[in-house]
Amino acid sequence: MERRDPDPVRRLVVDNVVMATLVAFHAHPDDEVILTGGTLAQAAAEGHRVVVVVACDGVMGAVPPQGAPRLRELRASAAILGVHRVEHLGYADSGHGPILYPDPPDRARFTRADPEEAAERLAALLRAENADLLLSYDPNGGYGHPDHVRVHQVGRRAAELAGVRRVLEATMPRDTVQRLVRLIRLLRIPFRFDDNAFDATYSPASAITHRLNVRRFARQKRAALAAHLSEVNGNGRIASVTRVLVRLPVPLFGLLLGREWFSEVSMSTIAGRTAPSGQESTTTPDVAG
Ligand SMILES: [Zn+2]
Repeated sequence: MERRDPDPVRRLVVDNVVMATLVAFHAHPDDEVILTGGTLAQAAAEGHRVVVVVACDGVMGAVPPQGAPRLRELRASAAILGVHRVEHLGYADSGHGPILYPDPPDRARFTRADPEEAAERLAALLRAENADLLLSYDPNGGYGHPDHVRVHQVGRRAAELAGVRRVLEATMPRDTVQRLVRLIRLLRIPFRFDDNAFDATYSPASAITHRLNVRRFARQKRAALAAHLSEVNGNGRIASVTRVLVRLPVPLFGLLLGREWFSEVSMSTIAGRTAPSGQESTTTPDVAG
């Protein structure tokens, strides 16, 4: 069945209440922008309460006395998007290499932490916020970073524990990701991933239930990305790409990053029961597209 309004925020309003509370669960500071920045900005602009929770603080070692720099950048980014509250679940990054390093002295790495305890921490926030909607990650954790895969697992469990009625998992259509990677190679932008690194990542188009056109929030999304100074000025695997993105004119930025995608999870799947077969697809064209 085609729905005229594919926008989860607006549909939540239609289905539920005038002012909803949306909690977006992310792995690291900066993840909130690329996958969900436009959605968060739109939700805030429409008068909903928007909360961002990150599992990790973007630090591999001990947190410096003045606090984690990337959490400060996250707060700056969130302020630009209109987010009302930012919380850190208390974990350190796990890293993306083959080695899971020992925990820093002051906290556990997210993938080494007890997933049930992590889910309880998130569930406590969801209950306190009386969250109507949780944004989390697809089963592949997007491109497969261990912390992102764990966000998927912990997000679903927390929604179950807290009884959140709707869970939308941020993702991208796999073929769109592969096209973007080809474009990056064509433009000879340094990008330290193997050519086939994205073959089994994100989601097939058939799994996507919501496609949002968030181009009118492109300026905010670009500014939020630029607030992640350690990423923009660093030498991480996507630093060169980020530097190019934040310098793009807003219309071009909007063309490249003005869409966001989600897969809605059936609550019976979350509750561990058998999902109804042939889960309804609500894939529709963009309203504003
Ligand atoms: Zn991340």
